[in-house]
Amino acid sequence: MNTKPVNLLDHDEAGLRAFFASLGEKPFRAQQILKWIYHQGVTEFAAMTNLGVDLRQRLQEIAVIEPPRVLSEQLSVDGTTKWLMGLCDGGFGGSNAVETVFIPEPNRGTLCISSQVGCALNCSFCATGAQGFSRNLTTGEIIGQVWQAARALGHERNGRRRITNVVLMGMGEPLLNFDAVVPALSLLRDDLGYGLAAKRVTVSTAGLVPGIDRLRDTIDVALAVSLHAPDHALRETLVPLNRKYPIRELMRACADYVSDKHKRSVTFEYTLIDGVNDHPEHARALVRLLRRLPSKLNLIPFNPFPGTHYHCSAEARIREFQAIVMAGGLIATVRRTRGEDIDAACGQLVGKVLDRTRRSRMVRETGLTVIAGGAGR
Ligand code: SAH
Repeated sequence: MNTKPVNLLDHDEAGLRAFFASLGEKPFRAQQILKWIYHQGVTEFAAMTNLGVDLRQRLQEIAVIEPPRVLSEQLSVDGTTKWLMGLCDGGFGGSNAVETVFIPEPNRGTLCISSQVGCALNCSFCATGAQGFSRNLTTGEIIGQVWQAARALGHERNGRRRITNVVLMGMGEPLLNFDAVVPALSLLRDDLGYGLAAKRVTVSTAGLVPGIDRLRDTIDVALAVSLHAPDHALRETLVPLNRKYPIRELMRACADYVSDKHKRSVTFEYTLIDGVNDHPEHARALVRLLRRLPSKLNLIPFNPFPGTHYHCSAEARIREFQAIVMAGGLIATVRRTRGEDIDAACGQLVGKVLDRTRRSRMVRETGLTVIAGGAGR
């Protein structure tokens, strides 16, 4: 028979239990295999000694454990590491690639992973958006980035975990790839996977309102929302998605999200762009918008990329903006730019996107017709 092997990285615990049940095996096989893959870093069935010879043989015939391939690794002077991960796009003459970034800090290590090849949303200040959209990643390609990074970093070596937090803030809009993203989140949370607490797994969205609502009802993770403007008119010039899901609806979805007892706060990301959204009046409007919502504000100095006409706000402007929002009662931090020398900073991830013409198809499939009109750039 010539059927495509199942990639076991495409399944979370529930999916693997169903898979083993379909083979007539006991569901606890799922636990055994998860430990091999995510705790031991083993992908060869032959090495999985507690599975029994017959089952190992069977798995070898019908399944694989196949993460993306590491095509390159770049190390920044500040310790940030960026990998280019090659994807299997068999049969179409070449392969796509996405970028994954590890940001070490004294008391934590954050891994930033991608959820799509390119992005369909076309935010005017983002290098990924400028590339166009190729396709969604599979669950295995999403969790496989973590698997590869953990291996490269020596995940559990010296008894210390290097990856303590995972953020879906790389390439793509995670909530437009909901069905593949959720099992990956579940593997990040699962003790048999990476065992991360809910607050250490963050989904970042450009504001896909129905996706936020669905996420709230599906799994406990932290939510980050890319806001970038305090009002409708300005936001739609930066984030075209705002035309479909205006700020008012977005704020409603965020308020509902934090009303769940497990989800206490939303992080708002606000990229500060010189002369565009960094005026003191914008800061005051932001206070009025957010002061009643349990939230944190993450101010991100704009990171330039080739072809952009935007500039980063001056340091004094950034400090003034932060001072105004904090005086208004918001909790606001300025995100220090990391990995600049290797183009690993926010909004600079480009990977390798083949067939970038598919944006219009993604737009059609997701009903985001307003974006197809094009804006921003
Ligand atoms: N699509 C999701 C995930 C991408 S996250 C989202 O929009 O949230 C990437 C984060 O970096 C977002 O907050 C994004 O707005 C921000 N960003 C994008 N381009 C940037 C740039 N050039 N400089 C600084 N931040 C940028």
